[in-house]
Formats: sequence, structure tokens, C-alpha cells
Amino acid sequence: MLENTGIKFLDRNPPAHSVDEVRPFAKQLYGVEGRFRALPSERDQNFLIENDDGDRFIFKVANISESEAVIDFQVGALRHIATTAESVPVPRVVQSKRGDYAGKVRFQDNQDHIVYLLTYLDGTLLSDAGASHNSALRRRLGELMARVDIALRGYFHPAAAQEHPWNLEACARLAALCEHIENQDHRSALLRVFERMEMVVIPRLLSLRHQVIHQDAHDDNVLVDPTNPTVVTGLIDFGDLLYGTLAAEVAVACDGVSHGSKDIVTPACEVVAGFDSVLALETDEIDIVFDLVCARNAMTATITAARSALTPDQPAHTRSPLRFIEQLRALQSVGGTEFSRRLRAACRFPARCPASPNEALAREEENSLIDARHSLMGRKTTHFYARPMHFERASGPWLYATDGHRYLDCYNNVPQVGHCHPHVVRAISRQAAALNTNTRYLYSSAIEYASRLTEKLAPHLSACVFVNSGSEANDVAWQMAKLVTGRSGAIIMEDAYHGVTDVIRQFSPGRPGVTLPSFLQGLIVPDPYRGPYREDDADGVEKYVADAHRAIAALQDSGHGTAAFMIDSAMCSSGVPKVPGGYMKGVEKGVRAAGGLMICDEVQSGFGRMGQWWGHELHDVRADIVTMGKPVGNGHPLGVVVTTDEILNLFIDKTRLFSTFGGNTVACAAGNAVLDVIEQENLIEHGKTMGDYMRKEISRLAGKHDLIGDVRGHGMVSGVEFVTDRRKRLAATQETSRLLEIMRRQRVLVGSEGRDANILKLRPSLVFQAEHVDRFIDALDRSLAAL
Ligand code: PMP
Repeated sequence: MLENTGIKFLDRNPPAHSVDEVRPFAKQLYGVEGRFRALPSERDQNFLIENDDGDRFIFKVANISESEAVIDFQVGALRHIATTAESVPVPRVVQSKRGDYAGKVRFQDNQDHIVYLLTYLDGTLLSDAGASHNSALRRRLGELMARVDIALRGYFHPAAAQEHPWNLEACARLAALCEHIENQDHRSALLRVFERMEMVVIPRLLSLRHQVIHQDAHDDNVLVDPTNPTVVTGLIDFGDLLYGTLAAEVAVACDGVSHGSKDIVTPACEVVAGFDSVLALETDEIDIVFDLVCARNAMTATITAARSALTPDQPAHTRSPLRFIEQLRALQSVGGTEFSRRLRAACRFPARCPASPNEALAREEENSLIDARHSLMGRKTTHFYARPMHFERASGPWLYATDGHRYLDCYNNVPQVGHCHPHVVRAISRQAAALNTNTRYLYSSAIEYASRLTEKLAPHLSACVFVNSGSEANDVAWQMAKLVTGRSGAIIMEDAYHGVTDVIRQFSPGRPGVTLPSFLQGLIVPDPYRGPYREDDADGVEKYVADAHRAIAALQDSGHGTAAFMIDSAMCSSGVPKVPGGYMKGVEKGVRAAGGLMICDEVQSGFGRMGQWWGHELHDVRADIVTMGKPVGNGHPLGVVVTTDEILNLFIDKTRLFSTFGGNTVACAAGNAVLDVIEQENLIEHGKTMGDYMRKEISRLAGKHDLIGDVRGHGMVSGVEFVTDRRKRLAATQETSRLLEIMRRQRVLVGSEGRDANILKLRPSLVFQAEHVDRFIDALDRSLAAL
């Protein structure tokens, strides 16, 4: 039977030599003499030797079935740790007088056993420490296991792949031994665990980080300081050493501390948090720990039962299998989702996004989040869609909702280079791990960033101020304009949006017709589709420009004068109108004649959004001040004001402006990484191609859906205007609002814009591929048909 399973050491048969027999070998090989005491062991025979000087050693007589290669592997690991991590408390291997570290000796029964000598580590076994089991200690244990694994990282030995009964990755073959579990319910429970391991878990394990691991950090192998029970003084017993996953190391340690505890999750969280603080775990590793802890218990139950059945004459090594079956039950009643959620929270991993749809559970979670949000963030907090969406993960153009579905993001222009772009994420995290400080100190990344950014602009735009948001950038720009011109009035679009600070809120009336303060004048949106002067009006441009002249004159009359024209080059809040050629230049001319500056708000239109680096260049205007936000850090907060050397120096001299977080080292790392990606992935060119393709496809749909009145945009920003009557161009406000909800059901996210909220606003990331455009078009087609 034992042979049939192919599992070694089920028949433990530990050596049973007398002290008198062993004593001469210790003396002859190592010159060690003293008092001998036999210690318990699962497979070997261990003796504690204390000599007259008080030095203590462990003399090990290996199991008869143990191969020289396996002992060489274990001894080699201990010697490797001694070299790579001297402070890691594991036994040292003593060199014999023969010059080796382990060798065979022949005992009186004519049997050859490998013997070796280890130094003794002080401390009490954790299993004997009883009450001293505490959370600080469990954290230390996690840390120690991580230190051991770091120390073993470069170690390999041919015997690392030995066959081993405790190998979690081979646990499925233990199913053959489940017949020794008498209770049928128990047996089925164990078989289910082994089956899940074989079918689901092991295939996943195979791509996780593997190395030589200790894999046996239970409380009989961990030593603690009896006088200070938060200190782990040693890790012993390298008999289960093998090539496995780091997740298995963690799982075994979690299992070791969870037994006997009413709350089995908290001790595991402490061990995992300790491990992760030294050796960062990967998401797939932390999420697999639960299954491995279950498997470990199933293995222990099965091996224990099989051993008692197959070798009834040998003393039981562990207590009854029942204990492990009960532990398995307790784990299963917590459940993998909750267990992983707790482990993740302990290590500050983001919340888990389920891989498979469970809409009912997702709804329940959404409801409790909404309730909490109302009480913590105010009842009037805004959210998209009638039923808000809950996301915990994103990648490239996709957002993954907790209902298990992925949604195509055609709306959010912040992740310009795609959600969670790995290059940007790594740059942020590497910089955060090295230094995060402010621009009152010198550091190279701010300079590198400022110089790369200004190189992308016209030569006169050569000086930067770093802030944290688009609003702040516009606020600073406005302060600059007032200071430089000595004037106090500004012109804006009548439905502009520029941000949230006290003054910039006033630059953001949102809707035409809102009464503006006397220092602001709103311009009629130059919209040739539904504006007052349409594409068929030969004098349309002049009429729109005349409105700017009116505004400038009004500012003159009110005594403010024109300090600036603040303009979003994409005119996003106006629904991305097809601005007639010559309009911007015409307004600029008037502004300059009045002594004002051009503040080009590139928060929406910058960084390649409009098919070239900057939107204002598309309109062929000269910017005095450029403001940036949103995509600058691909989601990491960073706002920038770029202007001339002269304006900046004048401004800094007068204001001594300093923003604590603006342009900090991490923000600059994000900014630099975004530029890297845009350049390396040729995203501006790509976005232009994709945007053109998208508009072409939408225009094609206009052939079958009358609701589509106008399609316009540049690069990756588009406006699609919906009308109920193409001739009269009546706004399809209700239909647009319904369409957004239907598109959501098609798992495509879009937004609406414009004074009548009848314009589809599309700003997908620049990494969109043709297949994503096709998916969007398909959803739009279906949604329009379903209206
Ligand atoms: N300017 C424009 C054109 C914007 O669209 C926005 C944000 N939507 C802002 C400024 C303000 O940026 P933030 O929200 O980062 O303050």
C-alpha cells in the first residue's frame, strides 16, 4: 500500500539508537562530548549534547530512507543562509574533523545512517510557550519566514524537487489514502479539497513564484524568547525543505498559528502582514493562501489517519486527524472570500474584485457602500448612473466592476495612457519607496520633468510651477495674469468649466445664462451646429468674434479691463464643438489689443488628447500661460502651470508661491513615466488614428440612426450630438440620458455634455485599439436601436 501511493515517509520508522551507540560518533567526528538527551522528531533521531563549557549542539541521525542528496540539500540550505543572512536565527552546521558537513556512519545493527551536527538555538518552543502566543510574536514569525525565504532565494540543489509527503503541490495524490478516514462525511470533505487543489488551485500555483522554502513553520519548529515572548529566537527543522511557492510558506505558517484559536483569521492576518512587510506578496499569492491552508489541514488529517492505520505499532506523531478536519471546517465556514479579504486588508492590498459574476452579492455591497457614503460623505454626493457603479480594479481601457463584469471606459480622460499602466504604477511605487519630498529641496526628477515638458511646448513657454490639480493651476494662472497685466477682468466661454477654487468656480458657470460677476464676461459658444450662427452662415466666424469684442468692451466699461481669456482648447463643457477656423485667432487678436493674456487650459485637451501634444496649437494661438491637470500623472495628482520665464519670475517674486505637494518626487515620477509611455508607445499618432476611425464608424451609424445629428472632435475627444429632429436640430435630452443607462447595460461607459445634455462626450484612453472602438460602436448601435 505504501509503495502504491509512491509517498515516502508515511512509514516514518525513525532511527532508535541508544545514547551509548551515538556518543562515540559525536566524539570521533566532531570532538564533541558531554551530556546527551534524546529529543522528539518525526522522522530522524535527534540528541541534545551539552559539553562542560555549556556549549550545546544537536546531533542528528537521519532516517534510514533519507538519501545523501536530501541531507546535502538541507545542510546546504543552512550553510547558504549562514552566508547570505547571518542574522537569520537558524542552526549552523558544524564541520566534521573529516572536513565534511554530513557523513554516513555504520551503527551496530549494520545499518548506515547519515549523521550531522548543528549548533543549538536558545529559546522555548512556541508550542510550549502557551500563553505567550501573541500578535506581535505572530508578526515576527511572518517576518522571520520572509527573511528565511529572502536568504534562500538564490539557493538550488537537485534534491530540491524531491518527492515529499508534505508537498502541497502534490497533495492530490493523498486522495488515495482517504480510505483510512472512517467517517464518510469527513472523507468526502477531504476528497473535495484534494480535487479542488488538482483542478483549480495547482494549475494557478504553477505560475506563482517558486524557490526553496522551509515549509514547516509550525509551533514545534519555532523558538521564542521565554523572557520576552514577542521575540522569535529561532527556526529549526529543515526536514520539509523543498522547492515550492512562497504562498505555501505563508500558508503553512498561517496554519501553524491558527490552530486552537477561536478566531482563526486574525492570527493568519498577523503572520501574513509580517511576511509581506519584509517580502512583498503578489496579489495572486495572497489570494491563494486560503486554499493552501485548507489543503494543509486536509493533508495533515489524511497523513495522520493513514499512518495510524498503516503503522499501528509506531507512536502517533500528531494528534488525531479530527482536529485537522475541524480546522478545515472552521476555515470553510469563514470562506475563501472573507479570508482573502481580511488578509488583503492586513497588507493594504486593494479590495478584491471578484473574477466571476455574482450580481446579488455586488448589489448588497453597493447598497451598504451607498448608505455609508451618505452618512460619511454627505447625502448629496454625486455619482454617475441611476445605480452607482462599484469598481475596485482597472487595466488599460477596462474597468472591472464588483458584479464580475468588465466595462469599456470611453469616458475617463484621466488615465490617458490606460488605467493602471504598469510603467506609471512602477514609477510611482519605486519613487514612493525611495523618497517623497517637496520642491524646497533639490532633486533631479523635477528638473527632468520640467525640462521634458517644456521641450514639448513653444520655446517661449519655458518655466513651470507645479501644483496638485487643474483648478489650482488655473487659479495660479489667473493670479499671474492679473499681476502681469495690472487688469482684473477675464473672458471665458459662457458654459466653461475650469475648476473648484473660490475664484475659479466663478470661471465655471456650467450653463449659459448664469449671471457672472462683473469681472467676467461669457462668450457665445462658437458652435456651428446648434449655436446662433451656423455652418451655413458665411459671416458666422466674424459674428462669434464680434461677441468677444463685445465682452472685451464690457470689461473695459466696467473698469476691469481684460487680463486674460481663459479657454479650454477642447471646449469639452460646450460639447466639443467644431470651432470654426479663424475664430480663436480672432478672439486672441482682440484680447491682445486690450492688453490681455491667453490662458490655455489644457486640462482636457493636453498630452495628445486632440491628436497632437496641445489643443491650443490646433487653433494656432500663442499661449502666454498653459495649465495642465487630469492626465498629467495618469491619475496621480499633479497640476502644472507653464509660462514664460519673465511671467514666472515676476509672479514668484511677488507671491513666493509654494505648494507643499505640488511637483513632489512621486508626482514627478508619475509625470515622467506618462511622458515615457506616450513617447514609447507612439500614443499621439495612435490616438489620432483611433479617434478618426471612431468618428468614421459613428458617422456610419448615423446612416441608420436618425438620432445622431452631428459627429465631431479631434484625436481622442469626440462629441456626438443627438437630436430628435435633424432639420430643426432639437436636442434629444431625454434620449441621451436613457442612452447612457442602456450603454451601461452594454458594459460601455460614456458621458453626456452640453447645455441641453444631449451630446455624447467620448474621451477614451489613448491606448484604445480598433477592437475597443468596434466594441463601442456595437454597443452604441444596439443601444440606439433599443431606445
Ligand atoms: N479645467 C478643465 C477644462 C477641466 O475640465 C477641469 C476638470 N474637469 C479642470 C480645469 C479642473 O481640474 P481639477 O478637477 O483637477 O481641479
